[in-house]
Amino acid sequence: MPVRFRILGSGSAGNAALLQTDDTRVLVDAGFSARRLQELLAAAGESLERIDAIFLTHEHGDHAAGLSGLARHPHIRVFANAGTAQVVQRSLKHRVSWQHFETGASFRFRDLEVSSFAVPHDAQDPVGFVIAHGREGDLFAPRRALAWLTDLGHAPAHIAQRLRDVDVLVVEANYCPRLLEADAKRPWSVKQRINGRHGHLSNDAVRDLLAAIPSPRLRHVFFAHLSRDCNTPDAVAAACAPTLSTLRCTYAVVPPGEGSAPYEF
Ligand SMILES: [Zn+2]
Ligand SMILES: [Zn+2]
Repeated sequence: MPVRFRILGSGSAGNAALLQTDDTRVLVDAGFSARRLQELLAAAGESLERIDAIFLTHEHGDHAAGLSGLARHPHIRVFANAGTAQVVQRSLKHRVSWQHFETGASFRFRDLEVSSFAVPHDAQDPVGFVIAHGREGDLFAPRRALAWLTDLGHAPAHIAQRLRDVDVLVVEANYCPRLLEADAKRPWSVKQRINGRHGHLSNDAVRDLLAAIPSPRLRHVFFAHLSRDCNTPDAVAAACAPTLSTLRCTYAVVPPGEGSAPYEF
């Protein structure tokens, strides 16, 4: 059975994605109000009532804003490490049904095997995820894995290692260095934060990361979390398409503020 995946929304105004198997429906991040999440899910033929869990990367509002509206959906379990859970819980009026995991460790949720890994970003304990379904060598449910990697200032070597066994990658392509440099709206201090070691990933850094994945089995890349002012889908494609064609990998650039088409793998 294929895994079905779609990005519901992406960018600094909010990030969330839906991943479904026959048994399980999860959101990766929930960076929209519960009402907006409900609308985005409805457009995908789903609803919050049918969501089993949220896997949370970090506490920034564009990833965690939806939790404040989930008091009416107590069945949704929220997986986060203790650092992230603590910071998010402090800002909420209701108690979330937290499921803690250790950064760097794996956990199972129903038919999914999820491993988390640390990413360098200016948050409490931010992570990326590899979410796998099925088993290696199983004819009916062969192993399929998706990696979720947004909000990181740079990509240390251990991250490329984590991506060697994934079929689908969602990766932040936040800014084009030339457009960020030329941007007149952002003060120097904000630019420093974005392109700092704990800020966001540039198109060039994504290209270098893709080229560094050892024996990649990647089939498809979603470029996400684009800055509205400091990046364009064309700039992402110009930086990364040659590397992806070497890898024989298809891709989609998710425009800022938008979602992706559904994808099965
Ligand atoms: Zn973000
Ligand atoms: Zn962030």
